[in-house]
Amino acid sequence: MEKLVLMKNPFLKDVFEHADFVWTRPETINEIAFDSKPLIENHILMCGDTAGMITPLCGNGMAMAFHAAKILSDIIISGCDKGFDNQSRTQLEQAYQQQWQKQFGLRLRTGRYIQRFFGSEILSEAVIGGLKYFPALTRYLVKQTHGSTI
Ligand SMILES: Cc1cc2nc3c(=O)[nH]c(=O)nc-3n(C[C@H](O)[C@H](O)[C@H](O)COP(=O)(O)OP(=O)(O)OC[C@H]3O[C@@H](n4cnc5c(N)ncnc54)[C@H](O)[C@@H]3O)c2cc1C
Repeated sequence: MEKLVLMKNPFLKDVFEHADFVWTRPETINEIAFDSKPLIENHILMCGDTAGMITPLCGNGMAMAFHAAKILSDIIISGCDKGFDNQSRTQLEQAYQQQWQKQFGLRLRTGRYIQRFFGSEILSEAVIGGLKYFPALTRYLVKQTHGSTI
């Protein structure tokens, strides 16, 4: 694909021919699972990709990781201010679960749902071709996968 498609672009061709690559093989997303994951496991608080990965079609994985880190750090700092015991630890976990779900739950679910339409070439073409005639629906779907600024 690099030779047949990407290198048709002279700028990318220059990069591929002259850059020092970090890995011998390219890192691609086809081996990555986008299934839902537990947010908290054995009291370990997950954040960023460990909490759940948004499908590449929706993008924004980096922004989501930053956003989740901000939510979690705010909760931990306020927990530290109050002092920790078993009860406050449970409250901290519940607060994180609630805020994370509110911020990312629907976005990840929508992303997974949309991604299902892009498994086969025919279905992908049909969906993209069809959505062209419904720009308001397209905007609505994109909005469901993107958050707002903090
Ligand atoms: C091919 C690809 C393309 C992508 N393209 C985009 C894009 O265009 N835009 C976008 O927004 N997002 C993109 N993403 C998603 C984005 O990269 C991630 O959502 C984001 O980096 C998640 O941040 P994170 O901090 O959770 O995890 P990471 O960025 O993966 O950071 C985790 C870090 O922990 C380190 N680590 C792992 N195990 C250990 C250990 N045991 N001890 C110490 N350190 C450890 C790793 O080395 C790594 O540095 C892409 C992802 C892939 C794979």
